[in-house]
Amino acid sequence: MSEPKPTNCKRCGASLERGYVQKGEIVNSKMKITETICFQCDKIERWEQFAKTGTLLTHTIMDLLYLHGKYERPHPHIKRKLIAQAVEASELIDKQIAIFEDLVWFGNPPLQKVVVDCRTHGMKYEDAVSGITFMAYDIAGRTMITVEGKSASISLLTATDYKENGHMGLQGICATKEEALDLLNWAITNRLAIVNNIKPDTKVNIGI
Ligand SMILES: [Zn+2]
Repeated sequence: MSEPKPTNCKRCGASLERGYVQKGEIVNSKMKITETICFQCDKIERWEQFAKTGTLLTHTIMDLLYLHGKYERPHPHIKRKLIAQAVEASELIDKQIAIFEDLVWFGNPPLQKVVVDCRTHGMKYEDAVSGITFMAYDIAGRTMITVEGKSASISLLTATDYKENGHMGLQGICATKEEALDLLNWAITNRLAIVNNIKPDTKVNIGI
C-alpha cells in the first residue's frame, strides 16, 4: 500500500501543495523516509548547517543566486552576516574555477584536448596518495568535471569545444570553502599527472 500524499510540513505545518522535501535514511539498503518538510524549512536547515560547519551545498549557492536576482528576500531565520559569508565563499571559489580553467582546461598540455579526443563520454583519474578522484564527463557539447575527496566534492561545467576561456562555472558542490579551494588547488598543482594519466572510464556517468 502506498503512503498517503503528505499535506502539511511536519516542522512548521505549512501546506505542501506547491511541493516538499523528504528526508530519509538508508535502512537495510532501502531509503526510509523519516520526515516530509516544506521548501522553507529545508532552506533553514541548510543555512543552519552552513552556520555550524561551513558546508556549502548546491542549493545554498542557488539560494544566493535568487537573492542577487532579488526574486526572494532573505528568510527571516537566515542572518545577513551568514549570507555575506556564503557570498564571499562562492566568489572565492569562482575565482579559483577561473584559474582552474586557465591552467588545467586550457593548460599545457590542455585537459580540453584529452576530453575532446576521448572516445568514451567518461574519464577518470584516481590519486592513491591523496585519495582524490578526478572525473570528466562529456556529452552534447558540455563537459562536467568533478573533483571528489573523502568528504567533499565540487563539480564544474563548461562548453567542450569552445576555444576562449570564461565559460567554466560551478555546477554542484558539497564542501566548505576551504575544502572546495583545496580540491581545486589539488587539481591545479597535479594538472600534469591528471592530463597524462586520466583514462576512459565507462562507469563515469552524468551522476558523478
Ligand atoms: Zn515547514
